[in-house]
Amino acid sequence: MKIAILPGDGIGTEIVAEAVKVLNVLDLKFESETALVGGAAYEAHGHPLPDATLKLAKQADAVLFGAVGDWKYDKLERALRPEQAILGLRKNLGLFANFRPAICYEQLVGASSLKPELVSGLDILIIRELTGDIYFGQPRGRRQSPDGLFPGAEEAFDTMRYTRPEIERIARVAFEAARKRGKHVTSVDKANVLETFQLWKDVVTEVGKDYPDVKLDHMYVDNAAMQLVRQPKFFDVVVTGNMFGDILSDEAAMLTGSIGMLPSASLNANNQGLYEPSHGSAPDIAGKGVANPLATILSAAMMLRYSLNQPQAASRIESAVEHVLAQGLRTADIWSEGTTKVGTQQMGDAVVAAITKKTITKS
Ligand code: NAD
Repeated sequence: MKIAILPGDGIGTEIVAEAVKVLNVLDLKFESETALVGGAAYEAHGHPLPDATLKLAKQADAVLFGAVGDWKYDKLERALRPEQAILGLRKNLGLFANFRPAICYEQLVGASSLKPELVSGLDILIIRELTGDIYFGQPRGRRQSPDGLFPGAEEAFDTMRYTRPEIERIARVAFEAARKRGKHVTSVDKANVLETFQLWKDVVTEVGKDYPDVKLDHMYVDNAAMQLVRQPKFFDVVVTGNMFGDILSDEAAMLTGSIGMLPSASLNANNQGLYEPSHGSAPDIAGKGVANPLATILSAAMMLRYSLNQPQAASRIESAVEHVLAQGLRTADIWSEGTTKVGTQQMGDAVVAAITKKTITKS
């Protein structure tokens, strides 16, 4: 097993260090190599995704990624901005399936903006198609409007498109994932208005016939947005296109109340994947030792489960995270009265201790 470790910018280096610490106590045999990405890579090599970093990522079974970005790079031309590194990795590794779990830990139920009874026990997996849809469809651009309401006026346009194979492969990913969970897939579309999503619905329905053990239902995206806050526990696996998934996965994330807790995975057809927390590089708290490393630690668990075929090791990490939360240990972002505030490293140490069953000392 080879893991490429790309800590990136801001809190990326702090939180990835904790995830690596956790991986190192699991008695797994893996090789790892660390490389620069994002703003750090731009500073050193003049590009956010240098060739050497891309080569390392391509050769690895999995990439553990921290976060990239800082306000100071906002004035750079788009191709050189740190965030382009993520897009470059997605494209070059063919990462078409994005997994975003939204799990509400019992101890953090109060952090959600929804009523506890709505989110207690919540465990949703949003699977978003990541390389197609209106974000990548051609043609796109700006021009003088050739027709329509205001001929000759300046207009901008994008193209929403999906091919049958693109829909088929993401649908299969969703059904396979559902088989390992609650055996329920909700496909989210806008088939009532969009041709693209009528094809989406038709293809998902066809693929669903190969999975008679998995319940399939279809929901329009506007209704899905509503049901996610009305009765979120209805959902098990949600599969949808790139744009709807972008929006719904952030909505689902917020049901759990804390962005510092949410891992994510992006996989290609060979289960090679990029694993990263759902949050960014948090420049406002970088270097202060207060960032929550749990989303990154949980991303490492997803990496073990989905790319490295080590489900037991993944479960050990996930149980250890639940254990430290049950002990009342909290970083500042999830702290509440009556719990113990710890820093980034202490949280990582506590997870390590829970895995190795050593006594955890509160600070
Ligand atoms: P952000 O997710 O970095 O931060 C939003 C808020 O959440 C901040 O107040 C931050 O302190 C807090 N936060 C985030 N992660 C936390 C953690 N682990 N523990 C405690 N608090 C945490 O989003 P932003 O502020 O909009 O963006 C900052 C930079 O990150 C920008 O340059 C943006 O482009 C970049 N970004 C990168 C990624 C990525 O690398 N995948 C994703 C989103 C944003």
